[in-house]
Amino acid sequence: MEENIYDTVIIGSGPAGLTAAIYNIRAALKTVVVAGNIPGGQLTITTLVENWPGFPTGIGGLKLMMDMREQVKNLGVEVKNGIVKNIKTGFEVILEGGEVLKSKALIVAVGAGARWLELPKEKELIGRGISGCATCDGNFFRDKTVAVVGGGNTACEDAEFLAKICQKVYLIHRRDTLRATAVEIERVLKNPKIEMVWNSEVREIIGDEKLNNIKIKNNKNGEEKILEIEGLFVAIGRIPATDFLKGLINLREDGYVILAGDIEYTTMTSVPGIFAAGDCMDDKYRQAVVAAGSGAKAAIDAERWLKTRV
Ligand code: NAP
Repeated sequence: MEENIYDTVIIGSGPAGLTAAIYNIRAALKTVVVAGNIPGGQLTITTLVENWPGFPTGIGGLKLMMDMREQVKNLGVEVKNGIVKNIKTGFEVILEGGEVLKSKALIVAVGAGARWLELPKEKELIGRGISGCATCDGNFFRDKTVAVVGGGNTACEDAEFLAKICQKVYLIHRRDTLRATAVEIERVLKNPKIEMVWNSEVREIIGDEKLNNIKIKNNKNGEEKILEIEGLFVAIGRIPATDFLKGLINLREDGYVILAGDIEYTTMTSVPGIFAAGDCMDDKYRQAVVAAGSGAKAAIDAERWLKTRV
């Protein structure tokens, strides 16, 4: 039944997973990609990507990922839309719905999803004034006043994007310096529609049927005030989508995959034959181009490791 066993099952279809697929199929490995929750990964909900080499005027995130997926399919990789529920050592990858994929090696490239403020009413009001994706939902707030929470690149990009659509954008950050790149910081600070709310935290989400203002607190002087907004965009980082891997491979307490590979296989996890790539194992760089590079490394490691098994 050898023909029913994949050489590699790649879990995740962002830049890491799809790049791994390109490398594995070109190494003549029988490869399948399980595409996950957001086929194409986080880049599909980004606007313009200006830091992917080769595109002099940038490229849309969705377009980049759709092209990458087409490239992978053209090379002969099977791409399945689906979510992995469980993995049995050996390996058997069990999808939601019951399908089982047998494989000799696995590459985990599941990325990381939105982190939320964890305040009462936050989850109930998602889609009713609260959002984790400015490019997806910004248009619902045309000419309205909104706020973005966070101080990283995502928050800055979201604020800029929303400033094009909305009347006014507050950017609420818990410190007095942004952690975004210098270019982003400059754009945000000189945008007349963006007002910085420094040293401040969201304390309360107000509204029942839909968001109707928030209460914020200045953590330097303790002052609390109501910010009159109709939309709140939460952009405070991400959580790796690794819950289903608990108990199988070693994970950090915050869910990031721990690479346990030696010098020979730097992308190997604590289980021989399971490799990891992209944002699920990288809380530092978290760039599409870095994820793609790590996908190539994981694929090369998997290929070399598989050669030692025959
Ligand atoms: P991030 O860089 O981790 O920034 C998260 C921000 O949220 C930080 O400013 C953090 O504050 C704040 N924060 C975290 N928890 C919070 C809480 N509970 N309450 C209030 N604020 C909270 O996340 P990101 O902006 O999503 O970016 C993730 C990675 O993707 C980064 O490496 C980034 O460079 C990259 N990225 C790149 C691009 C691009 O290149 N085009 C676009 C988007 C993202 P502190 O600063 O105080 O910690």
